[in-house]
Amino acid sequence: MIVLNGKVPLGWRLDDLAEQKVGIDFINNPFAIVPKREDAERIVAAFTSLDPHFLSFASLRAVNVPRCERWHPPESLPWTCADWSNALCGEAGELANVVKKIRRQQTGALNEGDPAMEELVKRVGEELADVVIYADLVAHYFRIDLGAAVRTKFNEVSKKYGFPERL
Ligand SMILES: [Mg+2]
Repeated sequence: MIVLNGKVPLGWRLDDLAEQKVGIDFINNPFAIVPKREDAERIVAAFTSLDPHFLSFASLRAVNVPRCERWHPPESLPWTCADWSNALCGEAGELANVVKKIRRQQTGALNEGDPAMEELVKRVGEELADVVIYADLVAHYFRIDLGAAVRTKFNEVSKKYGFPERL
């Protein structure tokens, strides 16, 4: 059974990924194993060959962990969960700093040297991306399926407030 974040993406056939020769262990349970760096490119290529705009938590994880290991060689001290969550909060802080500059412009409290609004909005996207990337690394530390966690939490909140939206 092929499962990606608990679902087969819309329009995909069950054997689509198998035809792309993605490692069967990864397909069956992409969050239970640490993807090997040599497999990462192939896994992401398989996802994107089916839909070039599709980005899943599974495909992010496939390349995020092997890339991260480049900054953390085996001889270095391993990061603790506190290090990873600190890095995540650091990126959230960088996002807040960009928004601070946006608010300066919106309220007329200009600071000399602040970038133009267009550049600041671009940086919001970049910092949000950093937050998501580190959130995935925190999730990886605890072997959490981030997509499943988002789905569960989203649906719990919808149910709690009586909203119909579900993932
Ligand atoms: Mg950043």
